[in-house]
Amino acid sequence: MRHFAVVGSGPAGFYTAEALEKAYGDNARIDILDRYPVPYGLIRFGVAPDHQSLKAVSKRYDKVAESSGVDFIGNVTIGRDVSVAELLDLYDAVVLATGAPHDRKLGVPGEDLAGVVGSAEFVGWYNGHPEFADLDPPLGGSHAIVVGNGNVALDCARILSKTRHEFEGSDIVGHALEALEHSRVRTITILGRRGPHQIAMTPKELGELGHLEDAVPVVETADFPPLGADEALDPGLRKSVSLLRGFADLPQDKTKQMVFDFFAKPVRIEGEGKVERVIVERTELDEKGAAKGTGQMYEVPASLVITAIGYSTSPIAEVPFEGGRFVNENGLIAERLYAVGWARRGPTGTIGTNRPDGYEVADQIAAAVPAGSNGERDGAAGLKRLLGSRGVMPTDYDDWRKIEETEVSRARPGSPREKFVRHEEWLRTIGR
Ligand code: NAP
Repeated sequence: MRHFAVVGSGPAGFYTAEALEKAYGDNARIDILDRYPVPYGLIRFGVAPDHQSLKAVSKRYDKVAESSGVDFIGNVTIGRDVSVAELLDLYDAVVLATGAPHDRKLGVPGEDLAGVVGSAEFVGWYNGHPEFADLDPPLGGSHAIVVGNGNVALDCARILSKTRHEFEGSDIVGHALEALEHSRVRTITILGRRGPHQIAMTPKELGELGHLEDAVPVVETADFPPLGADEALDPGLRKSVSLLRGFADLPQDKTKQMVFDFFAKPVRIEGEGKVERVIVERTELDEKGAAKGTGQMYEVPASLVITAIGYSTSPIAEVPFEGGRFVNENGLIAERLYAVGWARRGPTGTIGTNRPDGYEVADQIAAAVPAGSNGERDGAAGLKRLLGSRGVMPTDYDDWRKIEETEVSRARPGSPREKFVRHEEWLRTIGR
């Protein structure tokens, strides 16, 4: 029997476990570890609550967790409760699927002012991430800024714009729903340091902005290159740009505006003890297509600034780390130690991108670790002994089902569940 540990229960972790199970059949036991007693990582804490169809992929992960060769072991933090070296003693291979949960910094003065938050914090707040439940983003002013032109920036702008009614059917947490309902934000400026042809927004996500109940997107036609230039774009980007162009024709008859400000790079954030404005430099594209400052400055008022400019992975003691992810070659970090997903590639790609990624690394493991046993590895039994000796009480998949059932039973009308937002609540629910 072989024993494998997958650290992290988001999409990358589950696809890798699924692939390992397929590769080894009954000849392996696979443990998916997570620091929380609730699985699914990005699906639970990252995917927007009003995108339930994307979250439905967790049904597939349920099947993996329920299969006989796979166990979920929650409430265990690798690097704190148990080291990677100890895991490598216990398991034939260890796969780090820890995602990229931290915000990249903008690197401008004033970034630490109150009211400037990263998208991981803001998204975590409305999605019930225990670390960000108390974020309490300032929604009392009329202006907010979202920095970045990717899909996460769109998520943040859309969530700030929706009415309570539009959250029907979502699993947005109660505290965020209440706060957003009383929000006074009316103008959300989306700052892109480059132009419409350089956006990283996909058509479906962008298209949603044109159909909101009480908010309308605003674009400046002068920011766009001539229409004919769109033909050179990849089909997906061409569609996004065409949607953006179409926003210029929308009637401006809603209470809230989502204003696309292109060629706009934040250079300083200012305010007395809290953010009041962002100083922005007009940019143009240089010969390589990068944003180059023109020296022309202007200010945009804001009492909330959300930076949505990408994420980085958490370092783990003794694992080589550089540029926001683990140093690896095609997923291999060191002998028997691998990385998958955002921890391997950096924070790009959709949920589905993690599937081939996980399968590829599972193939590498299967080539390096033949079925059979060298008789030395204890797997979960050894891990549980070690954790027990340190007073750490892991949770299992049945515990998660109990938590899930309780969340579903607490759901307000029109919502699939009311999530617990604190670690203690999860543990209390399972009698700890
Ligand atoms: P992203 O797609 O990489 O976009 C990051 C944005 O931030 C880019 O517009 C980038 O501009 C900008 N940026 C980076 N550094 C900046 C700086 N210093 N100043 C100003 N702007 C800066 O990242 P993301 O939005 O975090 O999304 C991560 C991944 O998740 C993406 O693959 C995304 O498609 C995916 N995702 C998908 C969905 C969905 O399918 N519904 C939802 C959310 C996220 P430059 O291009 O100029 O660098």
